[in-house]
Amino acid sequence: MSEPKKRIFIGLIVFTVFLIAAITVALYLIPYIGLRNIHPLAPEIVCLTMSGALGALILGVGLLILTLIRGKEIFFAARLRGIVIEVLFPIMIVVGKLLGISKEKIQQSFVEVNNLLVMAKCRDSKPQRILLLMPHCLQFNDCAIKITTDAGKCQACGKCKIKDLVMLAKKYHVHLSVATGGTLARRRVAEAKPQAIIAVACERDLTSGIQDAYPLPVIGILNDRPFGPCFNTSVDISKVAEALEFLANGGKELRESPG
Ligand code: SF4
Repeated sequence: MSEPKKRIFIGLIVFTVFLIAAITVALYLIPYIGLRNIHPLAPEIVCLTMSGALGALILGVGLLILTLIRGKEIFFAARLRGIVIEVLFPIMIVVGKLLGISKEKIQQSFVEVNNLLVMAKCRDSKPQRILLLMPHCLQFNDCAIKITTDAGKCQACGKCKIKDLVMLAKKYHVHLSVATGGTLARRRVAEAKPQAIIAVACERDLTSGIQDAYPLPVIGILNDRPFGPCFNTSVDISKVAEALEFLANGGKELRESPG
């Protein structure tokens, strides 16, 4: 995945830090905002609270940027991912909207940042149970074989990428599951009890899947949609192979997010 995607998220966070700092200073300095009319100490209390939040945010952002640059866990990469998922991402959507950045671009950037944090965390560990979780729209629309119960039933005709995914799953001894929606995907995760997931989907489904599965590590790979959403979609198999290679080797090879 390209650097600009990662930069959108970092840029939005840095913008948010400056925005909060500017609001804090304004609240303290501009008397006509009227905080002192509420209580004589109100400006100090509000500014102290906001400064505390700002300090925590700067510390978190600093750690996040260092982790992303080094590609290795510095402190709390897993917890940092939680903060990105639960706190920063919702804020980035709002700030991005104010700046006219599309939700889709921010979701792509979020997936990229998530992947880099997962890779930083997994760099020296080897998950034993990996689940390849695929959307049903990857299957060729006219294929009559029901692969949602067992992807191994694929006849390998080559009309869609399921054939390559089955081969990859066999090569790396991982479980491959094809799900028709979020509910089935959640059930498959509960059944397979994976230690790590490689998921392919569109921006919206990947984002919600990563949020739902947390704290499970999920490497997200965006699908290709040459015929529009949810119909005969595709995926760059080399990206799936790279992610599998990374996890299977305890994170020794890959330096970039496959997303
Ligand atoms: S590769 Fe497998 S799933 Fe895809 S169309 Fe052929 S038989 Fe069906």
